[in-house]
Amino acid sequence: MLILGVEDPQGEKTYVAASFPSACGKTNFAMLIPPTEFLEEGWKVTTVGDDIAWIKPGPDGKLYAINPEAGFFGVAPGTNTTSNPNAMASMRANTIFTNVALTDDGDVWWEGMTKTPPAHLIDWTGLDWTPDSGRKAAHANSRFTAPLSQCPVLDASASDPQGVPVSAFIFGGRRSDTVPLVYQSSNWAYGVYAAATQGSAMTAAAAGTLGVVRRDPFAMLPFIGYHMADYFNHWLNFGRQLPNPPRIFSVNWFRRDADGNFLWPGFGENMRVLKWVVERSHGRAVSIESPIGWMPRYEDLDWRGLTSFTREQFNELMSVSRDDWKKELLSHEELFEKLYDRLPKEMLYIRELILSSLWRSLEHWDQSAE
Ligand code: GDP
Ligand code: MN
Repeated sequence: MLILGVEDPQGEKTYVAASFPSACGKTNFAMLIPPTEFLEEGWKVTTVGDDIAWIKPGPDGKLYAINPEAGFFGVAPGTNTTSNPNAMASMRANTIFTNVALTDDGDVWWEGMTKTPPAHLIDWTGLDWTPDSGRKAAHANSRFTAPLSQCPVLDASASDPQGVPVSAFIFGGRRSDTVPLVYQSSNWAYGVYAAATQGSAMTAAAAGTLGVVRRDPFAMLPFIGYHMADYFNHWLNFGRQLPNPPRIFSVNWFRRDADGNFLWPGFGENMRVLKWVVERSHGRAVSIESPIGWMPRYEDLDWRGLTSFTREQFNELMSVSRDDWKKELLSHEELFEKLYDRLPKEMLYIRELILSSLWRSLEHWDQSAE
C-alpha cells in the first residue's frame, strides 16, 4: 500500500492508503501532481510512502499507518518528466538502477524516458543496442531505488513514528474491462469483499501469462505467508472495533475501449478521482447507487482543465455490464472455493447480494440513463 496526503484549499489534510499489485501505479499515484487548476486553487498531494503501509489502531479509534521503507522502488519504463516528475527528481542522485539500459556517456535510459531513444545504448542484457534492434533496451520490470528524502513532495509526517491517520483505503488493479474507474463499497464488509476479490492482469512484475487476470487479494499474493482467508477475517474483525472505519474504494485506471486504447488519461488526472474519494470519506460528495457500490456521476467529478473528456466517454468508463459482472462473480467463487475451509461467511453472502442487485436494478444506476 502506498500512503499519500491530500490537502484541500481550506487546509484540511486527509490521508489515503492505496493497494495496487506490482507495476499497477502505486509509485505514480503516491507522487501524483494535480492538474494546474487544482494546484492554483490550493490542492496539494504529498507522499508518505509508495509501497508498504503498516497499520495499527490508535487510542482515538482511528487507524494509523507508517511507511516502513527508507526509499522508493519504482518501475523505470514509462517514468519520465511528464508522467512522474517527482520520481525523476527523487532519482536524480544516490540511486540504484537495475536492468535499465546504459548510455554512451554513462547515464541510464529506458523505454518512455525520452520520446527519441539515444542512437546507441548497452541494453539490460549487456549487448549493443540501436533503435532499429527490434527489442527493448530496458527490461519491462527494470527499476530505480531512490532515497525517500529526495522526494520533492515528501509529507511532513512521512517519518513520524505515530503514523498518519487513514481516512480512506483504495484497492485497484489493471483491468482492461469489467471494472469501472471508481466505486465506493457500501460498508466495511463490502470493502473487504472488494479487496479480497481484487484482480489484475498479470504484468512483467508477476510470474505468469501476461494479460491474464489473476486474483490478488489486497495485492498481498506475492507476500502473504499464511492462509489468505485468515487475512480476510482479520480485516473484518479489526473493522468491527472501529467506531468510524475508513471508507473503502476500488479504482481501475486501465480500462480499454474496443480498439485497445486506455479509456482514462490517468496519472495527474487521477486527482479528479482522488478528490471525490477524499470528499466521500468526509461524507460530502454526491454519488449514486450501483449494484457494486456508490459511484460518482459525471457532474460529481471536478472536470476543470479536462473539458475534452466527455460525458459519453465517462459513461463508457463507468459502465457496469451485467454479463461481465456475472462472469466476474463466478471467478470470485473460484477463489472462494480454494479458501473455503476458513472463508468468512460474509464473503459468500456479499457475493450473493451483489449478484442479486446486479440482476434487479440495471435501469436505475446506468449512468447513460441519467
Ligand atoms: P507500482 O509498481 O505499483 O509502484 O507501479 P508504478 O507507479 O511504478 O507504475 C507501473 C506502470 O504503470 C508504469 O509503466 C506507469 O507508467 C504505469 N502507470 C501508472 N499510473 C498509471 C495511470 O494512471 N494510467 C496508466 N495508463 N498507466 C499508469
Ligand atoms: Mn512502486
